[in-house]
Amino acid sequence: MSVYAGKFLRIDLTHRTWQEEAIPERDVQQWLLGSGYAAHLFYEEMTPERPALDPDASLYIFNGLLVGTFAPTASRTSFCGRSPLTGIWNEANVGHHWGAELRFAGYDGLVITGASQTPVYLYINGIDGHIEFRDASHLWGKNWFEAGDALLAETDAKAQVAGIGVAGENLVKIAAIAVGPSHYVRTAARGGMGAILGSKKLKAIVVRGKNRPDYPDRKAFLTTVKIENKAIKENSAGMSQLGTAGGFLATEQYGDLPLKNWRLGSWAKASELTGAVVYENYLVRHTHCFSCPIGCGKEIEVREGPYPSPRGEGIEYETMAGFFGNVLNENMEAGILANTLCNDLGLDTISTSSTIAFALEAFEKGLITEADTGGMALSFGDPDAVLTLIRQIASRKGIGNLLAEGSRAAAHQLGHGAEDFAMHAKGMEIAYHDPRGFVSMAVNYATANRGGCHLEALSYWNGYGLILPDLGYGDVRPRLESSPAQAKMAYDFQNYMSVYNPLGLCKFIVKGKVGPEGAVRILNAAMGWDWQPDDLLRMGDKLFQLKRLINNRFGVTSRDDTLPKRFLAEPRPDGSAAGNLPDLAMMLPVYYELREWDENGFPKPERLRALGLST
Ligand code: SF4
Repeated sequence: MSVYAGKFLRIDLTHRTWQEEAIPERDVQQWLLGSGYAAHLFYEEMTPERPALDPDASLYIFNGLLVGTFAPTASRTSFCGRSPLTGIWNEANVGHHWGAELRFAGYDGLVITGASQTPVYLYINGIDGHIEFRDASHLWGKNWFEAGDALLAETDAKAQVAGIGVAGENLVKIAAIAVGPSHYVRTAARGGMGAILGSKKLKAIVVRGKNRPDYPDRKAFLTTVKIENKAIKENSAGMSQLGTAGGFLATEQYGDLPLKNWRLGSWAKASELTGAVVYENYLVRHTHCFSCPIGCGKEIEVREGPYPSPRGEGIEYETMAGFFGNVLNENMEAGILANTLCNDLGLDTISTSSTIAFALEAFEKGLITEADTGGMALSFGDPDAVLTLIRQIASRKGIGNLLAEGSRAAAHQLGHGAEDFAMHAKGMEIAYHDPRGFVSMAVNYATANRGGCHLEALSYWNGYGLILPDLGYGDVRPRLESSPAQAKMAYDFQNYMSVYNPLGLCKFIVKGKVGPEGAVRILNAAMGWDWQPDDLLRMGDKLFQLKRLINNRFGVTSRDDTLPKRFLAEPRPDGSAAGNLPDLAMMLPVYYELREWDENGFPKPERLRALGLST
């Protein structure tokens, strides 16, 4: 193979057949790979009327272009298609080593359609060239830790595994796809893609390969990688040491941390629940995704006490925010166990914790009662209720059956004003960075293609001090002040972040100060291309607009580009963002003008033509 494999597999689970399809180089230049190429195929092949869990719905799994190379963090794979949670475009992205192994097996991606009658797993064995549909009856009903480990035992200990726990089997709309064995699980978490595997009776995909990339100029590429890795490492010492959990306390101090379903402004307890405390007490070892110089992953273990957690991937910032701050849980080990349960059951920790916080508030307001919960009282600050709800969501038992649909659907069913405190955008629970503390994020959440997703912009990083001169951000901008400049910041960061999943690189290298110039240096050195930073940003814009076109076909219009009422009308009562609200009504038209969207939220034909897109 060259840098990438140049082909993908189309797999039909109904008929248990597969065929290879070539990826022409001109397509790679046009869409990159990863979620870029997946969006291109999806746009060509989509049937808007087809529900996400229809047997004929397709799941597009694609490695980013550089996955499997030595490029820093070249490990990211996107699981794409129609989200069972939101009903619109989704790309759930994950690092780990699975994507690299898939490429070593000879494929850049998989398009999976149809549904098996009985549980099955795929074994893509690039060592001896076999692709097998294997019976998974003995694994159905098992959680991921047990299933993933069993798959390695019955295939190849050096293989890589991805699959679902019982949440995906039960078609829970916030189910994740887990990657890796029990002691080292990462998840393609957002948007409920685990339910798509469940609907197809596909328990897992096991991959094993032997190929390696071949570079146009290997020596020059390795020299570039060495230089970039050194700078990234120097700029990422905190991430290497504590992972994203290291930022937990700062988020409380910046008025960013969600508290009590986003109703409080500060929380003294945060200083006792920091990443440093987690890792001082429970760290087993640091973990790295494929080719990652940072290693933000942390394997941890809680050996004793009422909430023991087996050796496994540690709690990260978003999960801490959800299972500490947003439900006001002060018990660290219970929060760690919540993370462990989600990884094992196969649940998205952001959507699960946010939907639980919604349920706690609904109970407080009398919209959910003990008659609904089987006699269990729900209250903020009660970790046992949270742990019970996690299990009930995954199994769809009791009130869990309602919450398994996500907060938007649950609120719709409860009515009586519940919609006002279901904290989602376009059906996806908002990630844990407050748009009242970083107003550019209000514009991002309102316009992001998969809904309440922080990763589509990450522009709050500027407010925390990240400067990227080559993106036009050589200084830190006022983060609380709604302005046209904050709308532009959301736009600029979205365009830049939009190329990361297609390249297969981790956005955390941006925290290591890799701007468009650095990203293009890495890309050109790997591929022998001659792209400029503007080419990369133009590609980001193009792919963002393509996903908007997909969403327009699903019925998304300007009416959907909004935020939960709480973010627009209820300021944080205290803390450093106290009293602040984003002026979305002022910033959104600025953003629309930058994107050249009409008043209904459709990209204008002239912009599409300029980008080489068509409706
Ligand atoms: S920074 Fe963390 S998430 Fe990103 S590739 Fe490295 S280990 Fe994986």
